[in-house]
Amino acid sequence: MRAGFHDFENEIFHICKLFFEEVEWADRPDGESGDAAAAELLIRAELTEHGSPPQVTAQVRLSLANGEAAAHKQETRPLPGGSEEERRRQRKRTLGAALLQALQEWTGMEQPWGILTGVRPMKLLHNMMMQEPMDVCRQMLRDEYLLSEEKVRLLSDIGELQLKVIPDLFRLDREVSLYIGIPFCPTKCAYCTFPAYDIRGNNGSVEAFLEGLHHEIRRTGEWLKESGLGLTTVYWGGGTPTSIEAGQMDALFETLHASIPGMDRVRELTVEAGRPDTITVDKIQVMKRWKVDRISINPQSFTQATLDTIGRHHTVKETVEKFLLCRELGMNNINMDLILGLPNEGIRELELSLRETERLMPESLTVHTLSFKRASRMTQNRDRYEVAERDEIQDMMRMTTEWTASHGYNPYYMYRQKNILGNQENVGYALPGFESLYNIVMMEERQTIIGLGCGAVSKIIGPDGAIERFPNPKEPSVYNNAYKEYTEKKLQLLDRIT
Ligand code: SF4
Repeated sequence: MRAGFHDFENEIFHICKLFFEEVEWADRPDGESGDAAAAELLIRAELTEHGSPPQVTAQVRLSLANGEAAAHKQETRPLPGGSEEERRRQRKRTLGAALLQALQEWTGMEQPWGILTGVRPMKLLHNMMMQEPMDVCRQMLRDEYLLSEEKVRLLSDIGELQLKVIPDLFRLDREVSLYIGIPFCPTKCAYCTFPAYDIRGNNGSVEAFLEGLHHEIRRTGEWLKESGLGLTTVYWGGGTPTSIEAGQMDALFETLHASIPGMDRVRELTVEAGRPDTITVDKIQVMKRWKVDRISINPQSFTQATLDTIGRHHTVKETVEKFLLCRELGMNNINMDLILGLPNEGIRELELSLRETERLMPESLTVHTLSFKRASRMTQNRDRYEVAERDEIQDMMRMTTEWTASHGYNPYYMYRQKNILGNQENVGYALPGFESLYNIVMMEERQTIIGLGCGAVSKIIGPDGAIERFPNPKEPSVYNNAYKEYTEKKLQLLDRIT
């Protein structure tokens, strides 16, 4: 049997994208092999199957546009006896491995994530962990996926810690978590693609939105009572949930406690208070009264010029002041987010951010790398922003890894994004005992998440592991008109898991 280029066009495209900004398909003959142009490079790929027990061999030849040979790699792997789907995956991995090695040789660039181009490498590890001991999983990551030793260690450390923090992580199908989306912010940041609307704007009234949210909470509570499912975590995100008034937050907590069974025993309750300019004494007091375990205050950077460029509309001084205020009022589990690679930022700015973070010592620190998402204002005006080069981003990532390790933080969840600078990842670090349970179950898709409010996406994980997504409307004006209909549709879908 011979298979080739066309069967795995997607795989080839994504691996090429690891090396080149632009990848365009050139004309190619139909059939068993084909050509793609990545920069000035032509790629010929071919798969053949042979032998008993069966094996698959991938051949990848790279040549320059003038016909000169650039690199040639061959990879042979056994073909599993299971389903056709498993065999297809093995063909894909074999071809990916040959292509990756050829491109690494030609460009001199090493790809620490090997052939893993998806956004959730931890999910892959979890699936392995359910079948094999960790040392076998590590070997598979090295041999089959060509991960660097550094990334193998990162993934396996996280996998082990997650199981320690949530011992029933692989058996959470009789519980759900709730995500509550409040779609307002004081202003919109330039890099943002979240459902976040200027709270002073005209995109549907806040009161009408809250009315819809109260309704959704009550109906979801009725459904949860009937289903008998338990509650693992509740997470308020958005937008910035603390953009609404203290009294409005208080009323939402009251409805949550009156409607949702198990609210008083929930394992973790988080409220994102990302923008320091939204934090006030009365909102902190409301959160304390309702026993919020964890909040997030997000500096993103401690360089004022950067905050101005990205439209955060708050000062560095305000971040520090609000952090200290939260501490003073008894918030003892605070997360902070930093973003690497913001415009005009390099090692020096990161050093400043880490020095400031050291003074505050939040219980957890999430380190993102800037990603150019299609819908953000920053991407639409990409030419106007100076961002760090790949090597510098890698150095910055290394600095945060070393800094967090030397300050007692452990990595406990991670994910990757498309178009992320330097093909890096986002990593959540926490001091021991302060790992966010919601981040683990949500990011690794270990249980059903019911999304309430604007832009909230419910992820319904069926008994067979298949995931169905149900997005609520992003825009408050649409949500305000249709929340009843959306709520009922979603509850019908959720009936799958009862
Ligand atoms: S604070 Fe967060 S959600 Fe709000 S606009 Fe900025 S990035 Fe988006």
